[in-house]
Amino acid sequence: MFRIGIGKDLHRLVPGRPLLLGGVIVPSDRGELGHSDGDALAHAVTDALLGAAALGDIGEFFPPSDPAWKDADSLILLKTAFEKVREAGWRLVNLDCVVICESPRLLPYRGTIRASLAKVLGADPEAVFVKGKTSEGLGPLGEGLAVEALAVCLLERG
Ligand code: MG
Repeated sequence: MFRIGIGKDLHRLVPGRPLLLGGVIVPSDRGELGHSDGDALAHAVTDALLGAAALGDIGEFFPPSDPAWKDADSLILLKTAFEKVREAGWRLVNLDCVVICESPRLLPYRGTIRASLAKVLGADPEAVFVKGKTSEGLGPLGEGLAVEALAVCLLERG
């Protein structure tokens, strides 16, 4: 049995915060504003996995209103959520992601980001892919005011 999940997240970009994507700090003059560490890619992946297993979403598991998650390491949130997914009997087949970020270009960091996500998920880096895109200068993403991440995963059980 297979199940597909989709996840999406967006965070504002502001000076004085690190740009964290999949647990990797990407050198940038701006980073994500967020109650947690703001790792938009980790959040999208978490929602894709929880959604595929129909277990809930990141906001239910880790409410922003809960001070426990202030400045939380999003890889720990991802790992915790994925443990629930595994406990429900699911295995990750593959994960594919898109990060929309006007700058910097993410290609030089892709291998590191894939390896970081794969490590948290106990997956082969071959089963995890990440693509960087720009918004062609259009809209808030194109103006560099925010970063958006999309994730799709396939889970298998039985
Ligand atoms: Mg988020």
